Amino acid sequence: MKVTPDQLTIISWVLPHTEATKFENRKQTFYPSERWARARWYGEEVNIKLRKHVVITLKEAGFDGVAPMLSPLWSKKKTLWSESNVSERYGFSSPWSERHAAYTSGLGTFGLCDGLITPKGKAMRCGSVIVNIKIPPTKKLYNDHHAYCLFFSKGTCGKCIQRCPAGAITEKGHNKGKCKKHLQISDNYMKSNFGFEGRFGCGLCQTNVPCESKIPKENDTSCKPLFE
Ligand code: SF4
Ligand code: SF4
Repeated sequence: MKVTPDQLTIISWVLPHTEATKFENRKQTFYPSERWARARWYGEEVNIKLRKHVVITLKEAGFDGVAPMLSPLWSKKKTLWSESNVSERYGFSSPWSERHAAYTSGLGTFGLCDGLITPKGKAMRCGSVIVNIKIPPTKKLYNDHHAYCLFFSKGTCGKCIQRCPAGAITEKGHNKGKCKKHLQISDNYMKSNFGFEGRFGCGLCQTNVPCESKIPKENDTSCKPLFE
């Protein structure tokens, strides 16, 4: 079935981490807390089920939908457009990004660390489906893809630079290669210390930063407390 873009809508959502999960990771300085690691790994399994549930529910209502992240056409690529067009600038990329879908859908803008800063903050997971239904789009409250990041909008903050144990965040942005290496070290730590083979722990740049749980206001570079 052929469709045109105007026949399609992206439904995008944000699932914030709980306060207890964020609280535990705030205190970490190198490895993720166990609660964060489990929430990141098993929480994403829930997110996968949610994508499937939304597609099935839409189908039952008579609409065709697809969760791009679950499509066999999705894969992580070292190149941006084709095998012969290696992207030095973007490193690992993919044909669909949940954060970019959320940005396009009006849910938030990117921070210095590449995380998406939403009204519920940056410590979250997001998901999406595309469906052949026409729904009026959510109004975007920003004109710039970095609007909510204090580093870009006010020239302040930069706290995610200090939070990253791998030196993967600088004033030039997020180095995906350095980040990936640290994630691999964290994976091994999680396996040895928490007893499960999860991946993509860390999240230190998502916690104990001003944009962790909110869109930071001008001059508000404060973070939530580390102790109760
Ligand atoms: S911690 Fe500061 S510099 Fe980093 S993404 Fe958040 S607002 Fe931007
Ligand atoms: S996920 Fe961890 S290693 Fe990667 S940029 Fe954030 S703090 Fe650094």
